[in-house]
Amino acid sequence: MRSMIHGSVALLLSSSLFASAAWSDTAALRGVYVGDIDASVEPCDDMFQHSNGKWHRENPVPASQPRWSRRWEAGEIAKDQLRTILEAAARSNAPAGSSERQIGDFYAACMDESALNRLGVRPVQPLLDRVDAIRQPADLQQAIATLHAVAIDVPFRLHAESDSHDPTRVIANIAGAGRGRGLPDRDYYLSSEPRFEAARDRYKLYIAKLLQLAGTSAEKAKAAAETVLRMETQFARASLDNVSQRNPKAMDNQRSFAELRKLTPTFDWQAYYGASGLQPGDVNVVELRLMEEFDRQLRSTSLADWKTYLRWHVLDSAAPSLSAPFVQEEFDFRSAYLRGATQIRPRAVRCAEATDIALGEALGQKYVEQYFSPEAKARAQTMVDNLRLALRETIEELTWMTPPTKARALEKLAAFQAKVGYPDRWKDYSSVSIRRDAYWESVLAGRRFAVSDGRATINRPVDRSRWDMTPPTSNAGYRALRNEIIIPAGILQPPSFDMQAVDAVNYGAIGSVIGHELIHGFDDKGSQYDGQGRLNNWWAADDLANFKSRGECIVQQYENYFVEPGIHHNGRLTLGEAIADQAGVRLAYRALKISQRGKPAAPMLDGLTPEQQFFISWGQFRGDVERPEFARSMMQSDNHPTGKYRVVGPLSNLTEFQQTFACRAGQPMVRPAPQRCEVW
Ligand SMILES: [Zn+2]
Repeated sequence: MRSMIHGSVALLLSSSLFASAAWSDTAALRGVYVGDIDASVEPCDDMFQHSNGKWHRENPVPASQPRWSRRWEAGEIAKDQLRTILEAAARSNAPAGSSERQIGDFYAACMDESALNRLGVRPVQPLLDRVDAIRQPADLQQAIATLHAVAIDVPFRLHAESDSHDPTRVIANIAGAGRGRGLPDRDYYLSSEPRFEAARDRYKLYIAKLLQLAGTSAEKAKAAAETVLRMETQFARASLDNVSQRNPKAMDNQRSFAELRKLTPTFDWQAYYGASGLQPGDVNVVELRLMEEFDRQLRSTSLADWKTYLRWHVLDSAAPSLSAPFVQEEFDFRSAYLRGATQIRPRAVRCAEATDIALGEALGQKYVEQYFSPEAKARAQTMVDNLRLALRETIEELTWMTPPTKARALEKLAAFQAKVGYPDRWKDYSSVSIRRDAYWESVLAGRRFAVSDGRATINRPVDRSRWDMTPPTSNAGYRALRNEIIIPAGILQPPSFDMQAVDAVNYGAIGSVIGHELIHGFDDKGSQYDGQGRLNNWWAADDLANFKSRGECIVQQYENYFVEPGIHHNGRLTLGEAIADQAGVRLAYRALKISQRGKPAAPMLDGLTPEQQFFISWGQFRGDVERPEFARSMMQSDNHPTGKYRVVGPLSNLTEFQQTFACRAGQPMVRPAPQRCEVW
């Protein structure tokens, strides 16, 4: 019943969007969503409220969501599109091994909830048996390799990454950062603040409940939860904190295979590599202390405790793919307790997401055929070109940077690669064994493929055509080691990017996103890599000092933004995102002007100038409202500021915005000159 209600709501939303697209063919292109604006609040007082106030009043955060805006709403609509594709694939009689058959069978297996409910814990029993069969230290080490092969990363993961000293080749990377731990962040384990203590108690409850569902007695489950928390706390203590995880130098620890063996002498890397089909070679160890702690626990933690820890992580990893009680417990902890949602999302939406994770490029191929036209790709690519030009002009005009550093910055910009929409070459999933009658086995097959497909690139030249985001993803990214931006088809959709919208609206939304991703190559972290993706300082000393003090201004600005008294943004954690937002919107504004060069002036629309539309579009794109639980958890473990400050933060520094709306000194969206921040 619940899912039917949600289904009809989603349908209503999508049909209204499609309707507006249909009439726009004959009418003029659309502007901003004027109906969303709260005209009682002036842009110069609070641009976030002005751009979205009416929409927020009429669209409270749905019970199943941790945050909400037009953008997240569109993300849910996109999942309905995926669902339509998947339902058709599940009904089709496509030949075995074809990508249509693979995605159809995977989705159908996921949707068969009653079969999963009959099976209970049984699908995961073979992995649990594998853990139970551990009798001696060598068994434990083999079990760790087995679990890593299906992406159960206890307590680290080994994956492929470009070598930061020679990015033309791929090496093994051993990463800890939150792997093998169930709480979101290091401080959740170590802080004595009551809210973190409460989260630890709630986590122990979750551990005990899942173990009980798997047949452990209540008493033993309770003791097991203590064991898991104790081991994970020791791993957390040896881990980098969230700010250090943004420091590339702290994570650059290249070792030879012999040195790796010396770092963790108790662990048999030869056997691990053999079991994983890997050839020994250089490896980057992201967290040295964590690996030392791993070795220490191999020596000093009992096999019985290790088995408890592994058993727990098998169950936690499988829970969303098992019967309803497992799904419910996982939801109650991760989505409800940590993020504030009160209702689980419809099964079809979760199954569409699971298919995207397992077989993303097979599903993505169908998705772009239907929802991403060649015209859309061409228009997006033109925007990328204009954004690059805007950044080039910006660098050339900088007053605080000397010519030699400018020349290096321009070199880096020229070497940028932009991936737009979808890969040129699709992954071949024909070897993945998907079974319509066995969902968890199919999930494991997808994971096995992903892990081995990635690891197969280790010790080889880098393949720059590979994508690490799926085409339907409603997000974008920058990869410093490859100096590339990725803008998947999933974010090149309304309201971020709309073929039926005027340029001012598209530049305000997706244009600012493209600018944001380009600037990640020049934020506090990305600026430490050169155009080839090498961790290599290309800055003259004075220029670097100047850049850092400009960043410090942004740190101070965001430290003052809070979600509730006492819970502030961590300015150092959010610095990269804040620099990218600040400069991204400015670049996009400049790119809009570039796109208008040599053309007649764009007319007013809905009583708004193109410049006004541009800034309202950014305000609407970033119009997220977060639930308090989610906002609190973001402050701790997310390096993005909350929606409100992604609008207010950058624009209150920006003369272009203030001129557009004729803001006066003293208004909240006008930071006084001495406090004003500008990096790029
Ligand atoms: Zn970002």
